[in-house]
Amino acid sequence: MALESSPSKQFIMGERKPLIDLKLENPDLFRNSAYVNGEWIAAKSGKTFEIIDPGTNKPFAICPDMSVEDVDAVVQAAGDAFVTYRTYTPLARSLLLSKWDALIRENKEDIARILVHETGKPLAEARGEIDYATGFTRWFAGEAERIQGTTYPAAIPGRRIFTLKQPIGVVAALVPWNFPVAMILRKASAAFAAGCTMVAKPSPETPLTALTLAYLAEKAGYPRGVFNILPTTLQNTPALSEALCKHPIVKKVSFTGSTRVGKILSAHCADGLKKLTLELGGNCPVLVFDDANLEQACEEPAASRVTGESTDCVLPALIPLKFRHAGQACITANRVYVQRGVYDKFAALLTGKTLALRVGHGLEEGVTMGALTVPQGLDKVARQVEDAKKNGAEVLTGGNRMQINDGKGFFFEPTIVGNANHSMLIASEETFGPLLALFPFETEDEAVKAANNTSMGLASYCFTKNIDRIWRLFENLEAGMIGLNTGNMSSAESPFGGIKDSGYGKESGKDIAINEYLITKTGTLSLE
Ligand code: NAD
Repeated sequence: MALESSPSKQFIMGERKPLIDLKLENPDLFRNSAYVNGEWIAAKSGKTFEIIDPGTNKPFAICPDMSVEDVDAVVQAAGDAFVTYRTYTPLARSLLLSKWDALIRENKEDIARILVHETGKPLAEARGEIDYATGFTRWFAGEAERIQGTTYPAAIPGRRIFTLKQPIGVVAALVPWNFPVAMILRKASAAFAAGCTMVAKPSPETPLTALTLAYLAEKAGYPRGVFNILPTTLQNTPALSEALCKHPIVKKVSFTGSTRVGKILSAHCADGLKKLTLELGGNCPVLVFDDANLEQACEEPAASRVTGESTDCVLPALIPLKFRHAGQACITANRVYVQRGVYDKFAALLTGKTLALRVGHGLEEGVTMGALTVPQGLDKVARQVEDAKKNGAEVLTGGNRMQINDGKGFFFEPTIVGNANHSMLIASEETFGPLLALFPFETEDEAVKAANNTSMGLASYCFTKNIDRIWRLFENLEAGMIGLNTGNMSSAESPFGGIKDSGYGKESGKDIAINEYLITKTGTLSLE
């Protein structure tokens, strides 16, 4: 969570000190200046802002508050860097990404600690996020060498038609606070593999991990101006983002965040006809049928297993998908539709597993669910619980704010409500918090209609052993990604993205994601 900006006496340029001891093995990883054109700088205004630990509600770092007046210089720097970086061979770009990837993996523990302080998530989840995120650096190091044009047979004799892929130019990346390492790396890895340069604006709550990544990019050998980071407050965000989107040197905007902000940015990009990728909100349904393996369905809607080679990801693997990062994931389960025949059994099983979660500060031993990152999240969950109760839902577990760390941290009980129906807010609003609603259903048709009855279309999940039904659901559920007997489907090699109000464009996956950062030039040659 970030406070409003103010002139600060505590911030001295070049003095890289957190306000608390972060216990980093390598203190150099802590960076609290903006990173522009290979230099660590302050805001032109001299203003700064505090970064708050959501588990304690106390500031632990100070950052420069960049504003609209800082935008032109950084975009110019990224534009100048593009002139050179675009000429790097695919092999050179691949090797740079591999070096960056190795440095991030080497410093995983320290990055994870900063991530816990920024977001509130448990340390094991933070490690898992870095494993997931380095999937992108590794994958796109490979993709850099697989960018290919094509040749086409021409209808006219003596003609040859061929295509060439080229980097689109300077990219503006705007990312949310829930997975700040993964969201930056998902965009930057693809952009750098393609030969683009980038100006990234992290969320006001989570600028520090972005700055650490920039420091490691510099160590990996990225030339100045290829990667630039502008920390800023929520106060300055709208004007700064508008200036970035409208700057003529910026050719592509990639945004991950809410549908509301996605629509605003889309309007900013319209006039300049900027290429745009929008990864927006979700309200993801899970369908559990009578014939499902209930243990798997529980553990799996349940269990967005973090991929990667690290064995210390055991903890996140056991946490229900819903409660990973306290429900603050875009593909988290929001609505679980359970067929009548197994409804009671499933509700009891899931409630039991949820009761086993231990809530607390992310750095405390044994904690399996941390704080919400922003206090507004507490109000939203509380409002949805009250609304569900008023409309006839039964609270199976949780339902209240938690008084942890003297009531200062942003903690809410892992909550399940049963017998939910579509008159409730939770049926139509993304929760983005630790609240899950169970909706009983009778038939497949009824469940599919209910699942699709939302403006969002990010991810849907289903659990059944019937293979015919699996195909029908894959075809009939309205979402960009469908988990079939799994809740774990986000990885570097699989295309990620939504439909409907969840946005457009894909990130990660073969060909499709890197193409978001490329233009296709067509050549027609006449041999006569
Ligand atoms: P948000 O839209 O409020 O913020 C995202 C970014 O936009 C932040 O950097 C924020 O500072 C900035 N922003 C806020 N107001 C702005 C404005 N008026 N103009 C320009 N920029 C502005 O979202 P959030 O609350 O940070 O993140 C949660 C949302 O992100 C959820 O809806 C979630 O589903 C979505 N999300 C989607 C994906 C995905 O891949 N589809 C992944 C993670 C999160």
